[in-house]
Amino acid sequence: MARRTLEADYLVVGCGAAGMAFTDSLISACDASVVMVDRRHAPGGHWHDAYPFVRLHQPSAYYGVNSMPLGDDAIDRAGMFERASAPEICGYYDRVMQQRLLPSGKVRYFPMCEYVGDHRFVSRLTGDEYEVKVRKQRVDAVYLEPAVPATTEPPFEVAPGVRCVPPGELVRFAKRADGYVIIGAGKTALDTCTWLLETGVSPSDIRWIKAREAWFLNRKFAQGGALVGTMLEGYALQIEAAAQATSLEDLFARLEASEQLLRVDARVAPTMYKGPTLSVAEVEQLRSIEGVVRLGKLRRIERDTIVLDGGTLPTSPHHVHVHCAARGLNPAPAIPIFSADRITLQPIRPGLIPFNAAVVGYVEATRDDLAVKNRLCPPNQLPDVPLDWVRGTLIAMAADYAWSKEPDLRDWLESARLNPSRGLRAMTSEPSLAQAWKRFGDHARGALANLQRLSTSGR
Ligand SMILES: Cc1cc2nc3c(=O)[nH]c(=O)nc-3n(C[C@H](O)[C@H](O)[C@H](O)COP(=O)(O)OP(=O)(O)OC[C@H]3O[C@@H](n4cnc5c(N)ncnc54)[C@H](O)[C@@H]3O)c2cc1C
Repeated sequence: MARRTLEADYLVVGCGAAGMAFTDSLISACDASVVMVDRRHAPGGHWHDAYPFVRLHQPSAYYGVNSMPLGDDAIDRAGMFERASAPEICGYYDRVMQQRLLPSGKVRYFPMCEYVGDHRFVSRLTGDEYEVKVRKQRVDAVYLEPAVPATTEPPFEVAPGVRCVPPGELVRFAKRADGYVIIGAGKTALDTCTWLLETGVSPSDIRWIKAREAWFLNRKFAQGGALVGTMLEGYALQIEAAAQATSLEDLFARLEASEQLLRVDARVAPTMYKGPTLSVAEVEQLRSIEGVVRLGKLRRIERDTIVLDGGTLPTSPHHVHVHCAARGLNPAPAIPIFSADRITLQPIRPGLIPFNAAVVGYVEATRDDLAVKNRLCPPNQLPDVPLDWVRGTLIAMAADYAWSKEPDLRDWLESARLNPSRGLRAMTSEPSLAQAWKRFGDHARGALANLQRLSTSGR
């Protein structure tokens, strides 16, 4: 067991989407040296544990790192950009590391190493210990590490003999089940239901246990690149709804009426909002599942009975229960991104983990003053409940305004492939977008004031 000392400007802990986008952006904008550490064997973070039928919920066009495209920007039959699968994403991050970060000569990468604090990490294979003399900053790219079913125990008891698996195990089954019980109401549960239906399972063979209902962003309006005009139209409709809403309930009614937000069950008021996108076609397909169970939280699965807060349901050892009830995105409290002893990567615009990390990398490379860096990078806690749409939109509006006053940052944003709204500035006089620009201009101030009111009243 050896002890080694390394020296670098930055120590980046975590080589998931956040750490990779930050480092790529940082070394593109300055001459820093970086040590990158991850306990996993390869870069890409949680995508290595993802269920095999997962895809990005956003276009590949603006996921990954700025300096290397992901996918071919193909547009599918529904008129939306391609979305990468987990194997594509893992392969992509391997190429970013091997073809971009390491050849730059600025980055050293230590996979299979556990960061143990105080700028020290330990190899999980050899036990070798490393200490890094950090000249500038440690970068915490694990603060918002998500929790996925493959690596998280179910939040309910499972009796011996019950078939209860995370979604990824479904692809390994050799024998048909008597039925599938999906537990969860978030994106993973939706993906699992959609995949089962697309693979030929009858909707009547699916029982879907939902403790709550969620809002989803309409994917049609989350397209960038050649389709950035549609994104502007959607954003203008959101701003109009935000300006005119009389209450939180009215705001969500308006966002739904203008097709900005979708929900699977229109009879149930959502209490969850985590910000993933969904298409109208997926919503229609999911509505074919009639066996939706709303009896509160699931507490225990016994051999023949499912026990929930509000009642019980029959089941059997021949049913497959699918655990889609991990927390997913991590709504840890927002803390300053830049502090004296570290940079803690967090969103600025809602979601968009790689884009935000890249912005932080650029700001770190080009600014010295801590207060300036924090003013340009206000942290935006990952959303969990509907009110978070209001809070997240306000923070993003403030950040966009601050960025618009910095000429170099404006230029950087226009050239950043991770920026979904890249290209919009050049389209201010595009005749087909005149109505959207007008709607946005007419309502931006009102939206700001009204969202502030809604966020403080919470109603
Ligand atoms: C199913 C799913 C789909 C998603 N789709 C999208 C999408 O389309 N678009 C989007 O923007 N976001 C999406 N997200 C959100 C997602 O959280 C981010 O895109 C992103 O992949 C998260 O990256 P991360 O770097 O924050 O975390 P991670 O991917 O978890 O990376 C953190 C890394 O830190 C390492 N680590 C942790 N602790 C230590 C330690 N002590 N020592 C060493 N290493 C350590 C871990 O091994 C890991 O590799 C999705 C999330 C899920 C779960």
